[in-house]
Amino acid sequence: MAKRIEEDGVPPVHSKALWRALYRGNSDISKRSENLPPPVDRWLGSHLGRDVLVEAPSIAADVKSNDGHTRKVLLRLFDGSEIETVIMGYPGRYTACLSTQVGCAMGCVFCATGQMGFVRQLRPGEIVSQILVANRLLAESGLNPLRNIVLMGMGEPLHNYENVMRAMRIVSDRRGIGIAESRITVSTVGVVPAIDRFADDRQPYNLAVSLHATNDSERSALVPVNSRWPLADLMAACRRYSEATGRRVLFGWTLIDGKNDTPEHAKEVASLLKGMKAHVNLIRLNPTHGYEGRPTDTAAADRFSEIIQASGLPCTLRQRRGIDVAAGCGQLRAGGARLLE
Ligand code: SAH
Ligand code: SF4
Repeated sequence: MAKRIEEDGVPPVHSKALWRALYRGNSDISKRSENLPPPVDRWLGSHLGRDVLVEAPSIAADVKSNDGHTRKVLLRLFDGSEIETVIMGYPGRYTACLSTQVGCAMGCVFCATGQMGFVRQLRPGEIVSQILVANRLLAESGLNPLRNIVLMGMGEPLHNYENVMRAMRIVSDRRGIGIAESRITVSTVGVVPAIDRFADDRQPYNLAVSLHATNDSERSALVPVNSRWPLADLMAACRRYSEATGRRVLFGWTLIDGKNDTPEHAKEVASLLKGMKAHVNLIRLNPTHGYEGRPTDTAAADRFSEIIQASGLPCTLRQRRGIDVAAGCGQLRAGGARLLE
């Protein structure tokens, strides 16, 4: 930012004030009411809306779950594309689930975003602005700002590596939004070369890998890109990551009735991850229009979790809190909340 304003003759030191105005508090610099140093204010006057864009996306839909712990917003971007941002949690520890792409190229059969196909990459600013919108909504309700971020909304973050990492550097910067790096989780379907890059770059964020199956035939049926990056390669990349960084990998597993939820499957998960620093995160399927699978019932989900824990692996069963607001990945965009607009 300093470099950019300096090119136009503004002393680079003023980037600090601009950064604060953009990322601290809930102000809107496009309204020019910020008391910025005069040279930056003049610079904004001649560049805003032309070669510099600070527009916040507009809110196309905003729905709250009945239990009050999930709020889901559909954001409309400058080109009319729509993405979802979910805010969930309790006072003092809110988490935002952010989108990283419009649509997704990976085609997981049970995922509403995958069913849409790929539309385009989100820019760094479009990823950051989801946080700004979420923090503004929280502030308007008198609530504390976000504490955690998970990149588990629409899109595959590691298929938009540069923009995602630029966005996460901005949101974790202490002079601005200041969300701790250790409270940011990047979730991937298993883009193997990008996992290696994530490790080589020593990105300071947590890594989650969506597993869903422990053999190639079952996994390829759910996650088509498994045929490009098969399980053996994926697990090797996870081990390399864990060894290089000393970090734990969070493995996501969407429980689908009769497909990947039997006690045998649970035992296979335990043996596949044996000896690894890992944590298993289970979620019961959110049904989508484009997939006939059913969610595992709660008793079977509990049993699955117990088997994994008995093997010594930490395992949590995530609540499907957003279900009554169609908060499954991509589902608001896919039509779940149209009626509420
Ligand atoms: N593309 C990344 C991150 C976004 S998806 C990834 O796949 O990891 C975030 C998580 O939501 C993934 O674990 C994904 O498998 C899961 N998910 C997608 N659709 C779902 C559905 N209908 N029900 C339950 N989980 C779903
Ligand atoms: Fe893309 Fe993740 Fe959905 Fe798969 S689950 S289609 S990778 S967003």
